[in-house]
Amino acid sequence: MSAPILSDPGSSRSHAIAVIGAGTAGMAASLFLSRAGHRVTLFERVAAPGPVGAGLLIQPTGLYVLEQLGLAAPVRACGARVDRLLGATPRGRNVMDLRYADLAPGWHGIGIHRGALSDTLWSAVQAAGITLRPGAAVDMVEQRDGHVRIRQHAAAIFERFDLAVVADGTFSQLRAQIAIPHEITVYPWGAWWTILRDPDLRFQGALRQRYRRAAQMLGVMPVGQLPAPAADAGPHVTLFWSVRRNAEAALRARGLEAWKDEVLALAPEAAPLLAQVAGFDQLTFATYADVRMVPWHHQRVVVVGDAAHATSPQLGQGANLALIDALVLARCLAAQPEIIPALAAYTAARRAHLNYYQSASSLLTPIFQSDAWLLPLLRDLLMPLACRLPGVRGQMLSTLAGSKAGWLWGSLQLE
Ligand SMILES: Cc1cc2nc3c(=O)[nH]c(=O)nc-3n(C[C@H](O)[C@H](O)[C@H](O)COP(=O)(O)OP(=O)(O)OC[C@H]3O[C@@H](n4cnc5c(N)ncnc54)[C@H](O)[C@@H]3O)c2cc1C
Repeated sequence: MSAPILSDPGSSRSHAIAVIGAGTAGMAASLFLSRAGHRVTLFERVAAPGPVGAGLLIQPTGLYVLEQLGLAAPVRACGARVDRLLGATPRGRNVMDLRYADLAPGWHGIGIHRGALSDTLWSAVQAAGITLRPGAAVDMVEQRDGHVRIRQHAAAIFERFDLAVVADGTFSQLRAQIAIPHEITVYPWGAWWTILRDPDLRFQGALRQRYRRAAQMLGVMPVGQLPAPAADAGPHVTLFWSVRRNAEAALRARGLEAWKDEVLALAPEAAPLLAQVAGFDQLTFATYADVRMVPWHHQRVVVVGDAAHATSPQLGQGANLALIDALVLARCLAAQPEIIPALAAYTAARRAHLNYYQSASSLLTPIFQSDAWLLPLLRDLLMPLACRLPGVRGQMLSTLAGSKAGWLWGSLQLE
């Protein structure tokens, strides 16, 4: 059975668009597309959206996109400024020391609680006149007769749209229904994440990492305030600890104190943070995966965000890539009102930037999370030199900032 046609056949510019998934990618795309005059319906399987847990680092490129949405100010207000990335060995020898300002004066990242970013986008989406369907899991996307048909889980009817934007995350259930070859590879390593108070403001200003070979990695990054309605308005940090997936249960079985001893042997300065961890239930285990697919569209369906190109979080780019997808998609539809050529232009416009970050993430991850010994040894020897060589340092900084679009040259042009 089919539902009413939602698009106006007389209008070539205003399309009926279904966006599936209210994560960073889906909400940013909904905002841009609705502001461009399209009629957007946003489907989200969770009744009250808001990702739990970890912190995110928004790079200067992601901040540019948030500025276009008018959301950079609230994100800055609830997040925390990150000026520098510092990586060190257990003895405190610097392996990495990169300052955004060396790339361009005033540049910085913003560390933010995922829930705070989600709340900011969700408030904007609610105010934008977008048709919202929280609690609506989509289980079918099919293309027929020049339209896309969307079905909510177990619903008897399909709704028809001119375009579907699939943004249902790394472990997308809908990707397999779209005629695009793709592959998903889950990394053998993940991480425990938690959010803690930074009572002495000891961890502000920088993302700090400590490594022992590639087998141990601790990260601490400021993330500003907890999302409402948390009463604790003080500055917080996200702490992450690298964990091999198949060792997670054994680590828990050894007990909390054994884990804390291991962390403190690597980074004694983390003591005031670990004192706040009373049980393993405060630690969330995150698994990550590489998703490869090209092109990112098929006829009237386009896949964006992690569903299209998830990477490990090693370079801290996932939310940025998702934000940039949203901006570029809206621009392609503004430049070319016909959907099929606009989506082809979208894939072409995203290719170099996404290819670079996917390759760089999968190449770098084993240098920081693996059982290898030679790679991290070379890392500890060569990275400090690389950070000081002006040409190489510039490349590393542009990679961190999210603006590279090729190994040798090529940079993202957003303005
Ligand atoms: C531990 C960890 C740390 C990270 N750190 C960083 C970082 O520092 N910087 C950074 O930029 N990125 C980071 N990332 C990546 C970042 O979180 C993601 O890349 C980003 O959130 C992508 O958003 P998305 O909208 O594509 O997917 P998601 O945020 O996963 O959103 C997908 C949405 O789709 C909904 N959904 C799923 N299926 C359906 C369905 N069938 N119907 C309707 N709705 C559905 C889900 O409920 C969800 O709301 C990190 C990721 C992890 C796991």
